[in-house]
Amino acid sequence: MTADFAQRHLYFPLYDTIPLLLDDIGWYSVTPQPIAAHIADRCQSDVIIDAFCGVGGNAIEFARTCERVIAIDNDPIRLRLARHNALHCGVADRIEFILADFTEWAHRRIERNLTEPQASTVDVIFLSPPWGLFGSPRDMAVSLMPGGPEYLSYGKTYPLSAVEPIPGDQLFEIAHKITPNLAYFLPKNVDLKELAGLAQTLDAPSQDGSQDQERQREWVEIEEEWVGDKLKAVTAYFGGLVAE
Ligand code: SAH
Repeated sequence: MTADFAQRHLYFPLYDTIPLLLDDIGWYSVTPQPIAAHIADRCQSDVIIDAFCGVGGNAIEFARTCERVIAIDNDPIRLRLARHNALHCGVADRIEFILADFTEWAHRRIERNLTEPQASTVDVIFLSPPWGLFGSPRDMAVSLMPGGPEYLSYGKTYPLSAVEPIPGDQLFEIAHKITPNLAYFLPKNVDLKELAGLAQTLDAPSQDGSQDQERQREWVEIEEEWVGDKLKAVTAYFGGLVAE
């Protein structure tokens, strides 16, 4: 998601009044505020996990609609920027910032849930992982050059396997072991068939509460995220987040 500096007031209506701090990656990856606000409305809940919080674009909006936000990022600088930004937006008291690799954190959480099922609940997980388009601004420039990743070319679809730090379907499965209520923020040209396929590979819980190994079809809702006349991304909603 590349924010365009000339359009900063469209992407961040409070750009001149709230001093948000962004590093290079943060600038290229932060979710535009109107989109983040909309997703936060849809994800209204008690406890939400923002698994890849970056500089806090989504976490700050979640803090306005959820009781508690657990914001995770594995980059210490970006996490500090997120805390700073949350403080300036007056919502830091609702956000717990955790420096961690989300996949490791999630595995620990899943193990803990097995031994202490009552310990605490997570209502929703929001996934906005790196799209694997760039690691640094230099990498990005290289990847946009002819010969860069094929899925960046006009008309190509973005494969879930390009998601970082692990392929997008595996990331989905890990998060789904914690809660079925997932919102997955992905490039606008994501392979919709693959995305819809995720909803068919869920281990549906059986009536007695145990995991039924039979694969079942569930609903997925795919929403286009526009800012002005630009399609910026899509959000896929799963579980209880799917609109009635
Ligand atoms: N939604 C955010 C942007 C997220 S960009 C916003 O609006 O600001 C993706 C973030 O994932 C980056 O900040 C990167 O540091 C982080 N990240 C990458 N690998 C990670 C991992 N294994 N665990 C947790 N965070 C990770």
